[in-house]
Amino acid sequence: MLSASGEWLAKAAFSPASQIRARIWSWTAEEAVDASFIRRRLQSSLAARAALAASGEVTAYREVYAESDGLPGLIVDRYARYRVVQFLSAGAERYRDQVVECLAGLGDCNGIVERSDVDVRGLEGLAERRGLLWGEDPAGPVLIQEYELRFLADLHQGHKTGFYLDQRENRRRARRYLGQGEVLNCFAYTAAFTAIALHAGAERVTSVDSSAGALDLGRENVRLNHLPDAGCEWVEGNAFEELRRFRDQGRSFDAIVLDPPRFAATTSHVGRASRGYKDINWLAFRLLRPGGSLVTFSCSGGVGPELFQKIVADAALDASVQAVVVEWMGQPADHPVALNFPEGRYLKGLVCQVR
Ligand code: SAH
Repeated sequence: MLSASGEWLAKAAFSPASQIRARIWSWTAEEAVDASFIRRRLQSSLAARAALAASGEVTAYREVYAESDGLPGLIVDRYARYRVVQFLSAGAERYRDQVVECLAGLGDCNGIVERSDVDVRGLEGLAERRGLLWGEDPAGPVLIQEYELRFLADLHQGHKTGFYLDQRENRRRARRYLGQGEVLNCFAYTAAFTAIALHAGAERVTSVDSSAGALDLGRENVRLNHLPDAGCEWVEGNAFEELRRFRDQGRSFDAIVLDPPRFAATTSHVGRASRGYKDINWLAFRLLRPGGSLVTFSCSGGVGPELFQKIVADAALDASVQAVVVEWMGQPADHPVALNFPEGRYLKGLVCQVR
């Protein structure tokens, strides 16, 4: 890639179908982007996760986070003895064989599953793809360890690559706010925050999600950890409506987790997304008991941390609640943000306490 005046810029993958025409793979003119390049970048990415892997406390984490790890459009997530890969850009797609060959050659996993069934592939002119790429097929959900809890992750049907690995450290940190009384886990997916709350000592946890399949696996996750499922209420429904129903029923909670899906896919949807965040946070403030905690997230890249805090502040104001922020949350170290790729930052969270 050369500048208009002919100066060297970088080596990039050209994607004529995409609005992002070029993704930079190397700043060096002499560096060939070939199998050996792919191996070097994969190895350096894995080396950055070596301490996490060696700790033995966690068996599922992100091994390659695309642009942030110098491999634009490539995601590799590890789930115990399996890997799940996503090729999200035309450039990454081109190196599919080299990536699979290199990962298989490491000899440290039993199978590699592809989950390139995401709509961003369409923007790159690529069809969605999924299935076993190499080795043994994880026939059912895969058991993973996340600190003191174990979870089942469905690598073929689950959201993203099977589990919300990006919330691992936030779940751990949220533990101290979720350990008593009645907890509401909204947008629960497979009940990871529910399990944390029960494990921490909550008496009753209500889990709301629109996906019946996710809640089914959530029930299994609670049982798997020998947690008291008698204290669980499972609600399949639309969180926007269920929160209103709880309000109309006069229910209240000691802690609420709000972890909705991405409301804004691009910056052009920020207005609508902001209204969505405001609505659920406003309802949550109305449902919290005095002294209660709200653990609230946004994974929309277009809604930055400052805007998100403003939205939550507006929600508290409209709910006539006096609240303080006691903790700010973000992305774990296996989802790093390259300084020259600030777009890699998307996840943010606040812990608010009602006074
Ligand atoms: N907190 C979870 C991840 C949540 S992801 C974890 O730690 O694993 C967001 C979840 O919201 C998904 O499970 C999705 O099924 C659910 N969802 C999406 N729209 C919803 C809606 N309108 N009402 C309720 N749940 C919804």
